[in-house]
Amino acid sequence: MKSKQIQEVLNKTFRRASAKQRICNVKNCNEQAINSHVLQKNGILNEIAENGHIRISESDFFKTDLFHFKRVGINQAFSFKGFCTVHDKNIFSPIEDFEIDFENYKSQLLFAYRTLLNEKVKKEILLDWYKYQKESRILSGEIDIELIDDLDKQQRVGIKDIEYYQGKIESDLNSNTQNFVFKFKYTKHCEICLASHFTYETTSERKNQIQSTGKDYEILTDIFISFFPIEDGNVLIVGYLKEHKSNCGGFVQSFFDCDEDTLFKKLNDLLLCRSEMWACSESFYTKKIKPREKSINKIFQESASSIYEDRVLDFNMFE
Ligand SMILES: [Zn+2]
Repeated sequence: MKSKQIQEVLNKTFRRASAKQRICNVKNCNEQAINSHVLQKNGILNEIAENGHIRISESDFFKTDLFHFKRVGINQAFSFKGFCTVHDKNIFSPIEDFEIDFENYKSQLLFAYRTLLNEKVKKEILLDWYKYQKESRILSGEIDIELIDDLDKQQRVGIKDIEYYQGKIESDLNSNTQNFVFKFKYTKHCEICLASHFTYETTSERKNQIQSTGKDYEILTDIFISFFPIEDGNVLIVGYLKEHKSNCGGFVQSFFDCDEDTLFKKLNDLLLCRSEMWACSESFYTKKIKPREKSINKIFQESASSIYEDRVLDFNMFE
């Protein structure tokens, strides 16, 4: 079997999984999901777009050692099929149709909600992709089924975790509870957009936990982070579940108690070691990334295989 033909089937099945129709995530709604933006185009992504394009950090699924900053149109960037037209409009109206009050709990929650659902849909796409690979006659005997089943299992564990957080967010939206703590501040202007959630426990800590207790943490401590420019400054929102305060409260607070240079160094480490997707403007790319793209790609590669996601780098792209 020619490797080129295998590659083509992998590409094709991935495109098919991405293009698949998805159902709205609201309970009991069976309408088709439309493309929603994790970060809205108007007022946020537009702030970093030049000629309608931005740069996003991306790893190639097929050559996972290859990272690059891809130029994409803002219509494609940060979009996912999570909600139907009606629910997308109704639920997110407070951060779409009005000037956003970033200090308002509900606004902060809605940013976290979209981030979370985006990650969920990404995992569902991967599950479909694995399924199509296993169904393919051309790939039969050419792919490592055991590896795919293992990845499948990992994604399902991830989705279960996401659904736990989704339940907490939806309960807040429906009954005015406040399950989360959100911290917010304005910073100097920086042409980077990030909407992500990451696991506070490192792979190394999870390994230790499994070794000492025989099983992984029941629920992982997820931290939500949004960072983006509006007008002449940037907004930083970081949140976590109240019940996780003793785990990660101090860590999150350290982003708000330090001076701005230290904060940007901390963001640098997050962006390069822990964060799956972020975007920057063409100017930021040209000035801060392109001259050092090799070093940055090397850090991404190290991060992908490291079990210490909390590394403190001796590299700072903001300098
Ligand atoms: Zn719906």
